[in-house]
Amino acid sequence: MKKFAVIGNPIEHSKSPEIHAAFAQQCGIDIEYVRLLADREQFAPTAKDFFARGAGANVTVPFKEDALRFADELSEAARLAGAVNTLSLRSDGAIVGDSTDGIGLVRDIRDNHGCSFTGKKILIVGAGGAARGVILPIARENPESLTIVNRTQAKARQLAEHFSAYTEMLSASFESLDSAFDIIINATSASLSGGALPLPEAVFSSQSFAYDMMYAATPTLFMQLAQQRGGSCADGLGMLVEQAAESFFLWHDVRPHTPAVIQRIRRQLQN
Ligand code: NDP
Repeated sequence: MKKFAVIGNPIEHSKSPEIHAAFAQQCGIDIEYVRLLADREQFAPTAKDFFARGAGANVTVPFKEDALRFADELSEAARLAGAVNTLSLRSDGAIVGDSTDGIGLVRDIRDNHGCSFTGKKILIVGAGGAARGVILPIARENPESLTIVNRTQAKARQLAEHFSAYTEMLSASFESLDSAFDIIINATSASLSGGALPLPEAVFSSQSFAYDMMYAATPTLFMQLAQQRGGSCADGLGMLVEQAAESFFLWHDVRPHTPAVIQRIRRQLQN
């Protein structure tokens, strides 16, 4: 039986083993998938030890950059994201690093929520690792423009420059935002601390779709703001399941059906 793991610190909260077990059952594939706690300074030895027997690993906080350095080869998505969340052992023994978070976000918004990016004005709030990881897959959907706004403005400018070859990239300060966007994505960690973002109301309209990459049992403050303006919204639970589905596809060459798994994890979150 092939062995897989999710490596992180902390790791006990991770829903990945359950999601991959559900995919494996659905696709009739036998796998072992475990949580692996690595010491903060010990990612590489932990991963090396795992890959003596393992076929693939997901990597979560705080090791996505360590995984980038650990991989022998990188996909374009991982190189541009500056992070790896999926490691795969290739038949020649090389370990390939990939980033599936961005494609997970695109599939959730586009396919599960029926909201196309093509020709749309997109706003990404935040300029950390999560924001960086989703820009390339969004750019590939041919939006009209992609604007980054961040508390530390210099980081927003740097990200906009980094991806300027892929789509129309803009950066902005919170105060300068004075018109509505079609899709607004919260890629900050503000929701984790329950904090409100200094987003002007003008960015939301009744036609806007707001997406919080964080997920919780109840709508986040960011989602509530969008709802108050009459727009629709969703949290990042679907992204979590979709990024796992893309990892599953990379490892098993089979694309699992995600809606039932999203529903199952949602029910657990609410109980
Ligand atoms: P980082 O620490 O790399 O970046 C944090 C970002 O949030 C920065 O842009 C920071 O701004 C901003 N920020 C933090 N607090 C505030 C605040 N109070 N007001 C305004 N801006 C704030 O974190 P990540 O990018 O790795 O993660 C961000 C979020 O994305 C997390 O909540 C994580 O859970 C989520 N995520 C969800 C995934 C999913 O599958 N659903 C996958 C990956 C991430 P500044 O630069 O000024 O400090």
